[in-house]
Amino acid sequence: MTVPLLDLKAQYHALKAELDAAVLDVIERQHFILGPDVERLERMTEEYLGVRHALGVSSGTDALLLALMALGVGPGDEVIVPTFSFFATAGVVSRLNARPVLVDIDPKTWNIDPAGVAAAITERTKAIIPVHLFGQSADMDALMAVAAERGVPVIEDAAQAIGTQYRDGQRVGGIGFAGCFSFFPSKNLGGFGDGGLLTTNDSDYYQRARIMRMHGEKTRYHHMVVGGNFRLDALQAAVLAVKLPYLPSWSAARRKNAELYNRLFTEAGLSTGTGVQHYSNGNQVLTPVAAHGDSGHADHHIFNQYVIRSERRDELKSWLESKGVGTAVYYPIPFHQQECFADLGYSIGDFPNAECAANEVLALPIYPELTNDQIEYVVQAIADFFQTKHP
Ligand SMILES: *Cc1c(COP(=O)(O)O)cnc(C)c1O
Repeated sequence: MTVPLLDLKAQYHALKAELDAAVLDVIERQHFILGPDVERLERMTEEYLGVRHALGVSSGTDALLLALMALGVGPGDEVIVPTFSFFATAGVVSRLNARPVLVDIDPKTWNIDPAGVAAAITERTKAIIPVHLFGQSADMDALMAVAAERGVPVIEDAAQAIGTQYRDGQRVGGIGFAGCFSFFPSKNLGGFGDGGLLTTNDSDYYQRARIMRMHGEKTRYHHMVVGGNFRLDALQAAVLAVKLPYLPSWSAARRKNAELYNRLFTEAGLSTGTGVQHYSNGNQVLTPVAAHGDSGHADHHIFNQYVIRSERRDELKSWLESKGVGTAVYYPIPFHQQECFADLGYSIGDFPNAECAANEVLALPIYPELTNDQIEYVVQAIADFFQTKHP
């Protein structure tokens, strides 16, 4: 049996007729940039996410960049980010010649530690960017309280968390001042190429971001500010509009897969339960913290990734590869250890929780179309690793 990390063809084939028709329709109309398809997706996502404004943009990275540009972030400013995330979260800050101020993660959820954020705020802090890592909501009550106390806007990096509910009816991306989403093909809602979304409940900010999306044009060839080309294209919007109604069922399937993994790891004697933090009492792997977080809402975690921990991560990864199981390491190097951030002046040992995670995390296949047999095969392969290689 082989179990790929991701199988995009399975989703495409399930919706092929609808998707092909939507794409051909755009081709027939030849209106490729912004336009009615993009506006329709913006209205659909506003409703789905429960936000006042949504702006289709060229990628998740550009959503973050535009979010900071529209806030006026620039040289001398600081933006607080977790040291453990996808590169874009910190990269966009440096691109604006501002300083990414790094904060360690909570060892349980791997999301930014609110106490660390509170300690990192200065008069120069222009924004805080929590990441809802792997699809699990960050600790928004604590973060929003810290941010409100110091008057700093929160920009949610919800690239991996479209549909995640912090609590019932409160979807991430609509809690902070702005939210940033990615439609990269491997995200829970993926296009046929790059795409992203910027959300906000602030109408002035929305207008400013909207103008900056198109080179700062207020009216044609009249540039109010310097923006960029951050536009979403109509082909992506048409594809995403077909897929959006299926998103809740895909999130439910991911959660069901995660629950099966958790149960099988416990039954195999590899883990004593979700949220266990130590390799003791026979825990060979640590399974992700239960999907209910503080909120009790099932969609608190929508499992863009199902990430386990092992002290023998690299050996286990090679073993699984030899058994036909695709895995990935998100992320092997925290920001403070990246070459390009050497001049920020951080050292190894500064953020122990992130460093530990970087050494131990391993993402297993979790996509919605995965079968129970495949999940059983993955857990059996992991059980075999610990039995045959490390009795
Ligand atoms: C994917 C991702 C991004 C960037 O999105 P792109 O669409 O690939 O530019 C930003 N932040 C996080 C946490 C991501 O996972």
